[in-house]
Amino acid sequence: MKPFYIDYPQEKIEEHQHAYRCQYCKIPTTVIFGLLENHAEHCEYRMQQSKWVQLEAKLKPQHSHFDEPHADEVD
Ligand SMILES: [Zn+2]
Repeated sequence: MKPFYIDYPQEKIEEHQHAYRCQYCKIPTTVIFGLLENHAEHCEYRMQQSKWVQLEAKLKPQHSHFDEPHADEVD
């Protein structure tokens, strides 16, 4: 999973000189801020990426206890 999602197609916002937005959902990059959940829910890019995230999760079963100790788990 990527920490930041910045490889979405961007287009220039005409009214602003140095502003760009997602080509799919038209949300400015300054609002998206590299986060997938900041795209519109119907955004094509977001849906594509979500699919990959879900697929990755399926292909790679969680073995988190090998990677990091959860010594401080509290409930
Ligand atoms: Zn988008």
